[in-house]
Amino acid sequence: MRQIMVAANWKMNGLSADAVHLTRAILDAGLDPTHPEVVIFPPYTLLHVVAQEAKASALRWGGQNLFWEPSGAFTGEISGAMLRDLGCRYVLVGHSERRQIFAETDADVARKLSAAQAAGLIPIVCVGESEGERLAGETEAVLQRQITHILPYVGTGAQPNLVIAYEPIWAIGTGQTASPEQAQEVHAFIRGLVAGQSEALAKRLMILYGGSVKGNNAASLFAKADIDGGLIGGASLQAGEFLQICRAAE
Ligand code: PEP
Repeated sequence: MRQIMVAANWKMNGLSADAVHLTRAILDAGLDPTHPEVVIFPPYTLLHVVAQEAKASALRWGGQNLFWEPSGAFTGEISGAMLRDLGCRYVLVGHSERRQIFAETDADVARKLSAAQAAGLIPIVCVGESEGERLAGETEAVLQRQITHILPYVGTGAQPNLVIAYEPIWAIGTGQTASPEQAQEVHAFIRGLVAGQSEALAKRLMILYGGSVKGNNAASLFAKADIDGGLIGGASLQAGEFLQICRAAE
């Protein structure tokens, strides 16, 4: 009943030729065009390349970040309207690298969610605890704090207005994946928090897992009841590995 999504976060990687190669590899792979929904998050400089290649297909693309103001004197920033103009349907918000390296706060994340939705984008908002927080037994408290800032933007209608990605920081780019059981436990906790606001929206909410997903562990993660696909970093830069993950979601 929930859609499954596999999203590729290329981070700050790739030049035009890489974008053409990776996008064409996905387009030519003969994947089921509707299940999973496959979304690419290239650097801003490659959005038009992906858009050009994928425009007549079921493949979607999005921005890795946005600023909350619609326009103005904000050198180096990019707005939701600009992403829409490039055909983006989605935007990542609150990735842990943004939170840690660029000091984005929960309040910043909330402003970005509001701006993304106002621009007609569907945000994929990232949450997750650090290794220290997990070891200190604070995982649920951290997630509760992060989700509290997100709840006002989940929606009021029948369909959620955002997607959540659970990305434990200790699993991102480390090769240390959360076990399917660990991830399922947190996904169920997140869905429960959203259910406190709306049972119907919680049932429909897509919650992706991210953190060292690879071709050989994707199927066991995606088999869990509350895991609705993945946000893939490093493995999305290798066509073969990424396609294996997409097939695990079919
Ligand atoms: C990410 O950065 O969103 C991510 C999940 O990275 P990786 O798959 O490399 O752990």
